[in-house]
Amino acid sequence: MQRDLWRKSYGGSLPQFTCPRCGKGKLVKQGDLIKQEPRHVTEHLEEIGLSGQMSDGRFVGMLICSYQFCGEVVTVAGGYTTREEVHWNDDADVPERYEFSKYYPYSIRPAPVVIEEPEKLGAEAKKHLRKAYELLWNDCAACANRLRIFAESLLDQLAVPRQGKKRNGKNGELDLSERIDALEVTRPGHQKALNALRYVGNVGSHEGEADFDDLLDCFEYLEYTLIELIDERRARLEAKADDLLRRKGRPKSK
Ligand SMILES: [Zn+2]
Repeated sequence: MQRDLWRKSYGGSLPQFTCPRCGKGKLVKQGDLIKQEPRHVTEHLEEIGLSGQMSDGRFVGMLICSYQFCGEVVTVAGGYTTREEVHWNDDADVPERYEFSKYYPYSIRPAPVVIEEPEKLGAEAKKHLRKAYELLWNDCAACANRLRIFAESLLDQLAVPRQGKKRNGKNGELDLSERIDALEVTRPGHQKALNALRYVGNVGSHEGEADFDDLLDCFEYLEYTLIELIDERRARLEAKADDLLRRKGRPKSK
């Protein structure tokens, strides 16, 4: 996960995200972003004498995948602010005016992929993860809630039962916390990351709040957890090392 790519706002222009469809091309802006300042903002800026020096409004734009065999089209929309800055040019002894815009995306669809997704990730879990990427821009609390749903799907894929003996000793439907405990018995080492996701998801679901940076932390934990639990990268590397040790470094053909 390239953490610095994911921001609430972007100065100057939008970054070239990797295409969510092919994973090969970059999403390149087609033409200029269309910006529109609402009338009430124009009137307010005229009233306070800042008309022409700043602007606040909404923008829309199209991003196209640069990979010629893909050509995915992604729409982007959001808010913008523009501020005029004046610098004195000492050589020419004249003022120079610059416009600096900041873009706050509300929606990028289909959304760029935030974390590395293992090939073996199940369709149901992947559906929730992709929805969480979309919601990151639009509604942090809904994104947190979707990550919580994703965690349940992930545990389904890992064959952690939804029914069983609960903490109170009775049989019944296991909640997410109990299922995370059950996973810890068979596949230890991921309890902390999954519980962090659960807490952020709970606050998002019940209090309607989640912090953008906390969500990025959750995505980061999740990436590592998926690499270990679904991709089993460490286990595969250890198997390769075991094989090399068995052959004492000699080539397979001998
Ligand atoms: Zn593409």
